[in-house]
Amino acid sequence: MGTRAHPADPGGVMKPGGVVGATGEGKGGPMVDGFGRRIEYLRISVTDKCNLRCVYCMPLEGLEWLKRDALLSYEEIVRIVRVMAPMGLRRVRFTGGEPLVRRDLPDLVRMVADVPGIEDLSLSTNAVLLAEHADALREAGLNRVNVSLDSLRADRVDAISRRPGSHGRIMAGLRAAEESGFTPLKINVVLMGGRNDDEIADFAEITRERPWHIRFIEVMPTTANLDLSRENYVSCAEALRRIRALGTLEPAEGPTGNGPATYYRFPGAPGTIGVITPMSHNFCDRCNRMRLTADGQLRPCLFGDLQTDLRGPLRAGEPLEPHIRETLRVKPERHLLVQGSDSGSGGLVALSQTGG
Ligand code: SAM
Ligand code: SF4
Repeated sequence: MGTRAHPADPGGVMKPGGVVGATGEGKGGPMVDGFGRRIEYLRISVTDKCNLRCVYCMPLEGLEWLKRDALLSYEEIVRIVRVMAPMGLRRVRFTGGEPLVRRDLPDLVRMVADVPGIEDLSLSTNAVLLAEHADALREAGLNRVNVSLDSLRADRVDAISRRPGSHGRIMAGLRAAEESGFTPLKINVVLMGGRNDDEIADFAEITRERPWHIRFIEVMPTTANLDLSRENYVSCAEALRRIRALGTLEPAEGPTGNGPATYYRFPGAPGTIGVITPMSHNFCDRCNRMRLTADGQLRPCLFGDLQTDLRGPLRAGEPLEPHIRETLRVKPERHLLVQGSDSGSGGLVALSQTGG
């Protein structure tokens, strides 16, 4: 089995868990990891490339792109989903890099939507290309969209994304998403001191007017962003403290597929405020997901260097289920991120390489 060891488990031996033995491709029972967590969600990265260079995510230059033949084809991605659906996979998110830079993404959405058992399809995007594709994505069966938007000010969006002119296109993308009927719209805001933390209140106020779900995310350290994640880190507790100064917050249900976020709302507000706290509060006990990289590596955890090659067995015509079960078996209990250090990121340079 091609699973590389996790630094916390050099022998690859984790606690025994409730994994059901394989009886046939995709038929060996639900995906449950060694800590009893049921896995029903797969984040599929369709490309490592991006049309932006967000300061917290990618280096401005120097990342080596995957070669074209290393990328899984849409047919190969669907074959993996077909194996995992009988194992309990229910929800798929397309991510990247920027998923909309890969040609004909709506074709992939349609192909995955046709897999029996898949109930919910979503997309994480920077929205730069969303206006062009929103209708086609909707028609193909996409249910939901998450948009990264780190500031409400044009000059700041352009500066954070290091691509002048992106703000106007993102706004057009957001409008198109609403017009195409993508609800709830989730907006992801990575918190950065001195870059957008003075807009926390403005973002929160939007939820009184619009049914948007604004999610504040603590910046996670990678090799490419160490200075930023050390010097500009702002916790979600601090964001909530500032929002509470605006009015009472009550706990809220949150939109479908709320994953690691904890939600609040102003009483009577149509939108919610979510916090995602990978650094200040570990949320790994709720983890329900695995990740598939654009070159076919199945990752049991966002961070760490543990991953299983599915592309090789897939192209060799071998069964995939044993490789998937092995990945489940070694899924770590929690990530080992350390504030201000890349010691727990498993050598990951940028989140664009794994899909975030
Ligand atoms: N390009 C798409 C986008 O920006 O939404 C999808 C890929 S992006 C890697 C997925 C998510 O990861 C985005 O919400 C982004 O803000 C978040 N992200 C990237 N790097 C991060 C970091 N170092 N810490 C916290 N969140 C990060
Ligand atoms: Fe690209 Fe998304 Fe990373 Fe920004 S966060 S650089 S849009 S992959």
